Amino acid sequence: MFVNSLKLCSPLKIVNGGFLAAGNNAAVGHGALRVGQNNYSKVKGSCCKEVAQTEGKKVEVWPRPDPPPPAWRAECPCEPQPPNYDPYKIKVPDIVVPPMPPSNAKPMLDCSLTRGPCSAKPAPSPPECPPPPPKPFPWIYVWTVAGFFGTMGVIYKLYLWKEQQERLGENKPIWRPRPRLKSPYHDRDLPACVQYLIVGAGAAGWAAYKAIMEHDKKAKVFFISKEDCLPYIRLPMSKQMWWNPDPPDIKSLNYLEDGKRRTMYLADCSKFMDPVKFYRTKTGPAVSVATGWCVMRVDADEHVVYVKTMCGEQPIYYERCLLAPGSKPKSLSVFKSAPKAVRQKVCALRTVRDLELAQRGVRRARHVVVLGGGCLGTELAWHLGRMNQLIERKPDEEPLQIVHVFKDKGIMAGVIPDYLGEWATEKIKCEGVTVMPKTQVYDAFETPDGRVQLTLSNGTSLVTDYVLVAVGAEPRMELAEPSFLEQDPVNGGFLVNTELEARTHLYVAGDAASVYSQWRDVRFRDEHYDTAERLGLIAGANMTGHWLACNLEPHYWLRLGDALQMEVVGEVGACLPTIALFKQCAPEEVPKKTETPAGDGEKPCYKKSEEYQNRYKRGIVFYLRDETVVGLVFWNMPPIDDRRDVATEILRARPSYKDINLLAELLGFAETQCVYKTHEQLKEPGPCIRNWREF
Ligand SMILES: Cc1cc2nc3c(=O)[nH]c(=O)nc-3n(C[C@H](O)[C@H](O)[C@H](O)COP(=O)(O)OP(=O)(O)OC[C@H]3O[C@@H](n4cnc5c(N)ncnc54)[C@H](O)[C@@H]3O)c2cc1C
Repeated sequence: MFVNSLKLCSPLKIVNGGFLAAGNNAAVGHGALRVGQNNYSKVKGSCCKEVAQTEGKKVEVWPRPDPPPPAWRAECPCEPQPPNYDPYKIKVPDIVVPPMPPSNAKPMLDCSLTRGPCSAKPAPSPPECPPPPPKPFPWIYVWTVAGFFGTMGVIYKLYLWKEQQERLGENKPIWRPRPRLKSPYHDRDLPACVQYLIVGAGAAGWAAYKAIMEHDKKAKVFFISKEDCLPYIRLPMSKQMWWNPDPPDIKSLNYLEDGKRRTMYLADCSKFMDPVKFYRTKTGPAVSVATGWCVMRVDADEHVVYVKTMCGEQPIYYERCLLAPGSKPKSLSVFKSAPKAVRQKVCALRTVRDLELAQRGVRRARHVVVLGGGCLGTELAWHLGRMNQLIERKPDEEPLQIVHVFKDKGIMAGVIPDYLGEWATEKIKCEGVTVMPKTQVYDAFETPDGRVQLTLSNGTSLVTDYVLVAVGAEPRMELAEPSFLEQDPVNGGFLVNTELEARTHLYVAGDAASVYSQWRDVRFRDEHYDTAERLGLIAGANMTGHWLACNLEPHYWLRLGDALQMEVVGEVGACLPTIALFKQCAPEEVPKKTETPAGDGEKPCYKKSEEYQNRYKRGIVFYLRDETVVGLVFWNMPPIDDRRDVATEILRARPSYKDINLLAELLGFAETQCVYKTHEQLKEPGPCIRNWREF
């Protein structure tokens, strides 16, 4: 285009050629380009007029004709100068200072002129010395003596005060709960990644560890537990632990069962490696535990759990992870909103720390209330009653008063029929426990003497020193929402499939798992030890690559020493219709009437009559749903090893209620003997725990 326009417009071509020839200037070049881009007419002679570039501008001649300014010359003298000669010296005129004006100050007097020479007048003699001051009073001796007697007085006063405090019993050292310790202490010592990670060191977590070790001999398993102690079993906390003469020692957690010393700990601390060493170990078998650390959330997509630290969260990567956070105890709203002084005297038992607090509270108390008629409340009431008989008290000390308060007619009202619950309640009364059925707590406040007053639904009130709350438990679901894990809206807990997987490589077991039962086509969640353990075993096996389906039946038991043993298999509930078989006893087997029934004061130990006492001694309760037997309660039946498995098989066959006699035979009911013990035999003392350390 530019070339074409040059061809068509010759004068412009010259101008442009001139520009281009002279054009080492960028501005000029740009101008030429712009000219080239113009759309000129192709008609010859119609081009723009040739205009000189200088037109209308002032043209200056170059180079300029003005003469340059004269160059600077140094005008130095030609003759030699002295060495300090300064050619730039400025000549300053000399300054002449005028003379000072005459002073008008007074002339000084000359003393020699007025007084004469000093030597002529002798100096006056100094005055006589004053007599020496008298010696100061020896206050030091006074102060010393006064100080001595003062100190003695203070010591005597302290002695009197201490004696008075001792007399009042207020000088005992105050027990404080032990501080919560973390192990390892620093979050940097937590491993960055682990092969098998188990969150929660309870029954399910420990069972999973055992299963992993069984199926993967080189496994590296790491536990994280919120509690600041090694994995332990909770069952003795509501049972034999109360019969120990001393409060629990966290180092051993010992108790006595059938005359043998046992520990609540599932493993010795030497079994667990230091977390740093564990992380450095290349291959297993290895197991380590971080206690006192809480997992905040799980990222199942990235296979990482986040542990709460002082300044945020620390990630731990895993290959397989099991969540077994268990459950937490429920409490009553009256205690939640009660003042601190009341809350300090109320305990819902779940952890070892709770047990430490509760045992000290109960030992100091003269009156204790156990709230709740479920498994835990019943066990606590019965074992506290038995503790009263086993633990020695000072001769002047009154026995502990125990009151068992529950809202239903009898104990275990959610599981067994009312008539059976009422009958079993008598067993608790036998231990000297005052039972208050059909009673609820409406309010709780502190009395002026520092005790707790409970307002009850029957219009009365109870003043007590300590309250043990056992009104059920709920699954720990804090991890569910931040980890985006599905929850069961009906049963509560984490939704898992039959292999106990919530997400890929992320498993849930124990109290917090809502499991799909394949053969019953329902979901169930069970808060009992045996179920938690079996779920843990299945989850552990599946974590190592097995595909075990979880087709369990709920199974648990209630044992009140030799007084009552109840075992539950399958679906039970007070709302289900039941059929029960109880053993008919031969007349000679019925115990003779005893002279003094056990129990407190006026109250007879058993209700009504001798016949009632033996009516429900031994039996089986069948629970029905749509005429099918779905659950069984073995009532005081002698323990058999494989009863749970036999019962599970029977329930899976979905027997009808018409086959109950056959079922009873299969379950060994026919052979069970109805041997009764006399009251004296029933009252036989438990193991002597005074010298239990000798075992
Ligand atoms: C006093 C008492 C007596 C009992 N007696 C019986 C009985 O006689 N028979 C029976 O069948 N059942 C009984 N049970 C119930 C039984 O103990 C439980 O069902 C069982 O312990 C549940 O095991 P689990 O592993 O699911 O949970 P747990 O044993 O409760 O263990 C949960 C663990 O997870 C940890 N954890 C929770 N959240 C986190 C987190 N975010 N980060 C890290 N760790 C976490 C906890 O610290 C704890 O160590 C009793 C329970 C109690 C409290």
